[in-house]
Amino acid sequence: MPRKKLIAGNWKMNKTAADAAVLVKDIAFNVGQRSDVDVVVCPPFTALESAAAALEGSVVKLGAQNMHPEAGGAFTGEVSAPMLRSLFVTHVILGHSERRTYFDETDAFINLKLLAALKNQLRPIFCVGETLAQREAATTLKVIQGQVEHGLEGVGKELAPSIIVAYEPVWAIGTGKVATSDQAQEVHAYIRGLLSKLFGDAAAQRVRILYGGSMKAANAAELLGQADIDGGLIGGASLESRSFLDLIKAAAEAK
Ligand code: PEP
Repeated sequence: MPRKKLIAGNWKMNKTAADAAVLVKDIAFNVGQRSDVDVVVCPPFTALESAAAALEGSVVKLGAQNMHPEAGGAFTGEVSAPMLRSLFVTHVILGHSERRTYFDETDAFINLKLLAALKNQLRPIFCVGETLAQREAATTLKVIQGQVEHGLEGVGKELAPSIIVAYEPVWAIGTGKVATSDQAQEVHAYIRGLLSKLFGDAAAQRVRILYGGSMKAANAAELLGQADIDGGLIGGASLESRSFLDLIKAAAEAK
């Protein structure tokens, strides 16, 4: 069975609760009841409640951008999986390169979050990707292998299809430099091979692997036409409804 494409918007630290409701309403209205592409929006924590209200009755799903592995306790400033669930959140971005870089998140900590997300029926959008220096040193696949294997440690085979992997070359995020479709496909196929070794072929074939890094409508068709690219994690182009909707359309039309 072909994998349904998924387009997820990572809003990062943008939009107030009120602005989020306006954008989400526009996206939900235009997406309507379309079922050929899955759509997820990931506003900041402070806008989840207003976004959830604006999404009532919509097929568009709500994601968070991070979470703490513990369910509750003395972790000032953090938010847990049950708290996200209480706001109708269904997805959570984990291991984004900005969190790995600016907040020193390790593979081991990301793994704890991922296991906690799955335990709480949240679908992780698990991000991996190499830096420019790592690519230039020809260590891309080794870096990806480490991130995938450590990040997914302890995940049962039956839960594997709930995971969404996002390959985001760090040098392509927010830079306007997009990976070529060959560069991206090479890493996506490699990730699928790693998933096969961890979970078996059948489960690996069901996992969606998104590309992220300066994806826009203009470069989406070629990327989304690759065999192992099952959608996009979109930063900049998700902050405005027209560019985000164009990406959803490109995903629907991708062959
Ligand atoms: C991201 O941060 O996940 C991302 C892909 O950003 P951008 O699309 O802006 O490169």
